[in-house]
Amino acid sequence: MLNDKIPLHEEEWFEKLAIKIFSDIGNLTKDKIGISRESYGRGETLGINYIIDLAEEFGFYVEKDDAANIVLSLDKSIQSNYILVGSHMDSVPQGGNFDGLAGVVAGFLLLANLKEKKIRTSLPVKVLILRGEESAWYGKNCIGSKALFGLLSSEDLKSTHRTTGNKLSEAMNASGAKLDLIKNSKSLINSKKIEVFIEIHIEQGPVLVDKDWPIAIVTGIRGNYRHHKIRCKGDAGHSGTIPRYLRKDAVFAGADLITRMDDHWNTIEQHGGDLVLTSGIFHTDIDNQAMSRIPGEILFSFESRSQDISTLDALEALLRSECKTIERERGVHFEFDNVIKSYPAECNQEVVEKLLDASESLGFSRVSVASGATHDAAIFSNQGVKTGMIFIRNDKGSHNPDERMEVKDFMKSVSTLDKFINDY
Ligand SMILES: [Zn+2]
Repeated sequence: MLNDKIPLHEEEWFEKLAIKIFSDIGNLTKDKIGISRESYGRGETLGINYIIDLAEEFGFYVEKDDAANIVLSLDKSIQSNYILVGSHMDSVPQGGNFDGLAGVVAGFLLLANLKEKKIRTSLPVKVLILRGEESAWYGKNCIGSKALFGLLSSEDLKSTHRTTGNKLSEAMNASGAKLDLIKNSKSLINSKKIEVFIEIHIEQGPVLVDKDWPIAIVTGIRGNYRHHKIRCKGDAGHSGTIPRYLRKDAVFAGADLITRMDDHWNTIEQHGGDLVLTSGIFHTDIDNQAMSRIPGEILFSFESRSQDISTLDALEALLRSECKTIERERGVHFEFDNVIKSYPAECNQEVVEKLLDASESLGFSRVSVASGATHDAAIFSNQGVKTGMIFIRNDKGSHNPDERMEVKDFMKSVSTLDKFINDY
């Protein structure tokens, strides 16, 4: 335990505590490459159990909510409104150590600081450690926070694991989530009691590194519309014998679609719209395809992200109409899955200003950015909770094992949050 070795009330002590937690949880959840903390699964639970043990050593009060998220606080029963601080414990498979965990450790340090220095804030603070934010495991994101607000459908609960095929409902049940309550689609949290929700997170993009900003305050979060599996079916055939006008080539049809969508993207961007498009999965069936075989089928994903819901709706309509045109022109057929929608979210303007004030008063830059990635904060904001986010500069991207974050930058985000809460 750090308490024995390092004098209390020193900033250096908190920095060492942060380094220790990052390193311990990183080691506990190490994979062959990077770290893996599976949503409602092994690595996530290992990380959560580590935090629970440490919280008990520090004398924090620990609760598990009905969605099996963990809540830490300094008082056993909080009746008044409270400030909620949190982020997620899970990671993508073979990901980096700081995505999600940075916000969890920030919340822990915040409580440790309040307790060790015996600081009384105007409103009590709770720290929420969320499960299941990453969509990589079950194809659904923000599971822990959606469950809290009754936003998980019975269809969502039937989602299957990326490799084992096990159902999400089974994993949630095994983690202690109350499925009978979650299935009712009722809110499991009294959101009126949450005065404000703040999430600290690494940026996961290149802007802060490019601008040389250690931290920045987030103005809003892009929403996304996602198709995990669109199938394009044509006709397989001999590559040498079938002339162009008789071909039904699925790869050429898919490539045509992506080129058309790229043109729409360019037009929307030139008119000032906010949009990013990605087709991260795009393949033929390697088992039956060959160099000399016209591809009869492809499978691809399609994702659009924007801060503006009307742009996302327009893009979805364009995607469908371009598919219809290509079907007519190329004799193929597109089969769509259900689109999964995460709506854009705005951070609360008053909270943004207060976070900017806190950052500036500590001598850090007064700067803000939009979030390209989805976060649990978007769920809280869209449920009417006043929400804010602080981004920490991180290098080498995110959702990969090379993700980097400087602890000095991280400590600036914690100080900003601490100042924000003390001034609230
Ligand atoms: Zn994250």
